[in-house]
Amino acid sequence: MKIAFIGLGNMGGGMAANLVKAGHEVHAFDLSPEALARAKDNGCATYTSAREAVQGVEAVVSMLPNGQIMEGAYVNDVLGAAPPATLLLDCSTIDVRTAKDVAFLAGSKGYAMVDAPVSGGIAAANAGTLTFMVGGSDDAFAKAEPILSAMGKAVIHAGASGAGQAAKICNNMILGATMIATCEAFALAEKLGLDLQTFYDISSKASGQSWSMTSYCPVPGVGPASPADNGYQGGFAAALMLKDLKLAMDAAKSAGAKVPMGQRAEELYARFTADGHGGTDFSGIIQAL
Ligand code: NAD
Repeated sequence: MKIAFIGLGNMGGGMAANLVKAGHEVHAFDLSPEALARAKDNGCATYTSAREAVQGVEAVVSMLPNGQIMEGAYVNDVLGAAPPATLLLDCSTIDVRTAKDVAFLAGSKGYAMVDAPVSGGIAAANAGTLTFMVGGSDDAFAKAEPILSAMGKAVIHAGASGAGQAAKICNNMILGATMIATCEAFALAEKLGLDLQTFYDISSKASGQSWSMTSYCPVPGVGPASPADNGYQGGFAAALMLKDLKLAMDAAKSAGAKVPMGQRAEELYARFTADGHGGTDFSGIIQAL
């Protein structure tokens, strides 16, 4: 299949490479010459504009920094330039409103579109083991599923347009709050004189267990390998966690939902980031507690 890929950064670079490995012809565009050079090394054909990249393709995948950039790329370059009936798949993490608006506009021009944000970081993007949460019609999901499967281990239909983004920000609101709760518990355990490995052995098998504890333990040398074992480098940057929590707070405000724990997590990650730790893995917030 001929697939255009727009946005070949930390995440998109590996995702596009996996589409190539699955036998697709990938037409790549990114504003960054370095990202384009890497895409070329990974077997993509490279283009100097999104409009050129989408010529003659059957699908467009995008992995862009935010909703404003995603909307600009689709409204200015993709819609109208891609062949009629091209399937559009936006995998960026963006606000629910923009995801719905752009999908509606695309639909009015005859394109089927899904929002398909991911869970999993750069390592999962490279390994092709992302989880995709997909919003769109049944028909669009059925067409998108085989393309997304080439880049992930799970592809789940969350509901109508925007539902993928809704699932993503709700999931990451849990992640932000459980990571802080886990960090606080380890900090308290230490002050109470508990051995941290012993506390892990107990809590990981008791009701305090969560993904933040057993898959991504914020304490160095405890649990499986995680960014904590690497000086809190790599992994999922605190600035990206803050971005997702801000999206969750905006969504909660417009939906009239009460999210006091999510709000507190957003405040704590905002402070951590303002203190110069935006590039630190989000589990590094344990050092600030
Ligand atoms: P990134 O900054 O590494 O990559 C974004 C790429 O988009 C860059 O290469 C940039 O040059 C390019 N770009 C920007 N504007 C463009 C435009 N108008 N046209 C073409 N290319 C353009 O970011 P990333 O870490 O790859 O994240 C991408 C998306 O994935 C974000 O929405 C992020 O929230 C989400 N995400 C990231 C992670 C992670 O661990 N990094 C995990 C899950 C989801």
